[in-house]
Amino acid sequence: MRLLIAMMKHETNTFSPVPTDLARFGRGQPTPFYGDEAVRAFAGTGSGLAAFIDVAREAGAEMVVPIAAGAWPSGPVDDDAYAHICDRILEGVAAGCDAILLDLHGAMVTRSLPDGEGHLLQRVRAAAPGVPIGVALDMHTNLFPEMVDGITAIAGYQTYPHIDQYETALRAARPVMGLLRGELRPVMAWGNRPMLPHVMRQSSEDGPNRRLQARCRELESAGALACSVFTGFPHADVEHAGLSCVVVTDGDRELAERMRDELLDAAWDAREAFVYRPEPLADSMSRAARIEGGPVVLLDHYDNSASGGTQDTMTVLGAILDAGLEDVAAFAIHDPGAVARMIEAGVGARVTLPLGGKIDMPSIGLRGAPREVTGQVRLISDGRYRNLGPAARGVLMDMGPTVVLDTGKVEIVVISRHQEPNDLACFHSVGIDPTRKRYLMLKSRVHWRAGFGPVAKAVVECAGTGVCTSDYSSLRFERVRRPIYPLDLVNAPTSWTGASGD
Ligand SMILES: [Zn+2]
Repeated sequence: MRLLIAMMKHETNTFSPVPTDLARFGRGQPTPFYGDEAVRAFAGTGSGLAAFIDVAREAGAEMVVPIAAGAWPSGPVDDDAYAHICDRILEGVAAGCDAILLDLHGAMVTRSLPDGEGHLLQRVRAAAPGVPIGVALDMHTNLFPEMVDGITAIAGYQTYPHIDQYETALRAARPVMGLLRGELRPVMAWGNRPMLPHVMRQSSEDGPNRRLQARCRELESAGALACSVFTGFPHADVEHAGLSCVVVTDGDRELAERMRDELLDAAWDAREAFVYRPEPLADSMSRAARIEGGPVVLLDHYDNSASGGTQDTMTVLGAILDAGLEDVAAFAIHDPGAVARMIEAGVGARVTLPLGGKIDMPSIGLRGAPREVTGQVRLISDGRYRNLGPAARGVLMDMGPTVVLDTGKVEIVVISRHQEPNDLACFHSVGIDPTRKRYLMLKSRVHWRAGFGPVAKAVVECAGTGVCTSDYSSLRFERVRRPIYPLDLVNAPTSWTGASGD
């Protein structure tokens, strides 16, 4: 038996000015991972690819891994980078295989295509008619019909922060392997509702999504092979952005449709609870100053690099400096130029420089606005560390050359490659113990909870500036289907649904 296994992951923020070339998929090396190198990089980690590798090994199957390409979220993917990744996968498929297991994101937009995954999957289908295909997807998938049509089984994360990437890939692989063994006949039902759940309300640890994801697990215990509610990624202005659902059952299409409808109805009923209303920054700052003890997370959720943010806006950090808050560690400001200057100055040097604000954000009508900061270069690092988990456990992170700039009150981590703070190791790797700080400024939205949730005394959500703004009214949506809640008031939802199999 021969299994084709590959990874292509990118969450595209169509409002982001951050470019997405092939090198971004290398995460610190010039290109994505190919063949044995991909297996070495991901086997034994908490990634979806690792699960597919384990499935192949357990089945005693020959494994072909043409490419593992995962990039940090940013603007639309360059056409040549997308073509390169797809061509590698299709070359692998053309060589022949018994099943195909793909670890995809589900919200990839290229410069020419609104639906990178659907386009790839339809080409894979055409190149290998009759070969079963299992697909693991991120909870932030914006589901297009082309992504499900003709696919054998789809499973999406049931946690946000995404700490079940490995388990999700197993849920996608099992129906496919069962089909190969002649034990299962997977059928799928899918559909959406016209709603854009706010990312700040999508955590699976509380609120409406906690109940929806728990219900998915219950339905799996009650006989479904895989149940997935995708909360969607609203910062992608594409037709099918928003909430959707896929259910896989063993040969029972009616059951799959019933479960799908129940999940979609429950999500639609909770639509108001998915709306987020930001608090003015000045209120957040004075609230933070009044909280005793720590660490208190000051969450700069408008500028999360894991949602396509430039990670260099200075609004929240500036407010922290202006407020005179003390004993603060900030992660992180992306500013390769400032890093280079500070490396040249050397450890111990006192520097004054314009920090951050190097990238304009035309989609929201803002120019980059650096802030002059004075401090001491405390530490210089190569910026590499492995995640402790539970998110992406064991996966190598590479934030490029990194410097800690200490203003006396605030230790600012300045990095050269985007990195969301989702793991305590991002601070440990630069000599900061985050558990002993009074305040932690984190540029993140929900994933910070994976590493920092258990140690945070409180969180104060701070409305700054950035292209993953939590204020939808500052974004110009032109392509998403309308009406859609909460951009529009919708009384009677229009949805699309579909099903495959018997
Ligand atoms: Zn996600």
